[in-house]
Amino acid sequence: MPKKQNTNAQRAREAARRGTKYTHALRKAVADEATAGTRASSKPDDGFGGHEFEYEQVTDLFRCTECRVYEVAARDTDGPIKPCTGLIGYDGDTERVYLLLTENPALPYSHAGFLATSVRSTGIGRAPRFSWRDGKLLVESAPSVVAELAHRIGQITSPVDGRQVPAVSSIDHLTPEGGQAIIAANYAAYVAEYGEPA
Ligand SMILES: [Zn+2]
Repeated sequence: MPKKQNTNAQRAREAARRGTKYTHALRKAVADEATAGTRASSKPDDGFGGHEFEYEQVTDLFRCTECRVYEVAARDTDGPIKPCTGLIGYDGDTERVYLLLTENPALPYSHAGFLATSVRSTGIGRAPRFSWRDGKLLVESAPSVVAELAHRIGQITSPVDGRQVPAVSSIDHLTPEGGQAIIAANYAAYVAEYGEPA
């Protein structure tokens, strides 16, 4: 029996083609539906298995920006969607640990974006949502590669008055719970200042 057309997915795909991030668009569609009372649960499982699917123009398919799996492949099971394994560089390790980076106070302006991009380019770490606050950047990694990530972050420099200085002044290792607590605190601070994110 063919699957019933998912109108939320269709709407999300249309939004993605207009430039909205697909997963976020679909989450919003699901949330709107929940608000309208057409869903029994007020907190539905988002159904994405932790993937961050984005539209890929060359293939006209949706692909996870983290594990690089195509959505059609992840859903090609008799059961639920195959869960996201995280960054390719985690090598299938599903455990997560965190580093809390303190920006070098000698830097003349915030390097948050530069740091997040530098971390992402290592392929073994990333800055999750709500990871930046008060000169500190939280970075997610996996236990098997976190030491290498910390080593590489320690080598990131930025020019100040014509000489290269380290971009971060300290790197603290945090447990999964410690990292999650910081994300929760940052999220609360964000909501207090700007309201609920769209
Ligand atoms: Zn994924």
